[in-house]
Amino acid sequence: MNHLLNLNLPNNIKLTIKREDLLHPHISGNKFRKLKYNVIEAQKQKADTLLTFGGAYSNHIAATAAAGKEYGIATIGVIRGEEIADKIDANPTLSFARDCGMQFEFISREAYRNKTALDYTETLHKQFGAFYLLPEGGTNDLAVKGCEEILTEEDKAFTHITCAIGTGGTISGIINSALPNQKILGFPALKHAALSADIAKFAKQDNWELIEDYHFGGYGKINEALVNFINEFRDETNVPLDPVYTGKMVFGVIDMVNNGYFPESSNILMIHTGGLQGIAGMNRELKRKKLPLIKT
Ligand SMILES: *Cc1c(COP(=O)(O)O)cnc(C)c1O
Repeated sequence: MNHLLNLNLPNNIKLTIKREDLLHPHISGNKFRKLKYNVIEAQKQKADTLLTFGGAYSNHIAATAAAGKEYGIATIGVIRGEEIADKIDANPTLSFARDCGMQFEFISREAYRNKTALDYTETLHKQFGAFYLLPEGGTNDLAVKGCEEILTEEDKAFTHITCAIGTGGTISGIINSALPNQKILGFPALKHAALSADIAKFAKQDNWELIEDYHFGGYGKINEALVNFINEFRDETNVPLDPVYTGKMVFGVIDMVNNGYFPESSNILMIHTGGLQGIAGMNRELKRKKLPLIKT
């Protein structure tokens, strides 16, 4: 659903946001797109369990747990950080996932870095039996295929399409279904040296660019200016943004509009990839740091 934003912008620029966050109440935004064909494939393979990886506040963990509940597939989340194991109740993401039926395996940060090694996958199979494996962040060929469905006929008139990036799966799908004359701008939520190469593995066109100035210090990092921006944007437009991905991307796009990056009369579509479940966890951190909270 596209929503034209009524903001006072220079140079006759129009800004529209695609509310992918409204696709499903719990399988949020791009995670719904990324899971769709993987769940269909798991069902085809008669797999009764999905296993995946994520951090303590991962949108992908929350979405996989919700999808498992909805489609009757068991889910296992391999979670970074052994110290979180006895703090599930205090963690809104993990308690949500647990209530959807997800089983957890908490591992050390060191073991987590090694999670894609073949012998670790074998260890997991010995422990849990057969499962359908989804990589961290859920990016694979089937996820990119799902993300190719984000853009539709009605989006052909946009000159620029912007989205936040984690692993690069979502932007790859958008690139593949965009017109060659549309420019796709990706806003990485973290510093990630191999990102361009990762996107190039999936992307079939080269009409894209990374804007690396708006990660606010790295993944999950936040400051008072970003909190204030998210709250003001919501007051003005009624659109809630998450602090890890979409808040930084929209901040960046508006900053670039004001700094003259976009040509006169650009017609920009921003993809709202969801992630709003992460606000509760972030507010816990903000409260601890005595910073202002994100309004809910
Ligand atoms: C996971 C996520 C992303 C990043 O998607 P990738 O396909 O990993 O690049 C962007 N926005 C939100 C809200 C997300 O949850």
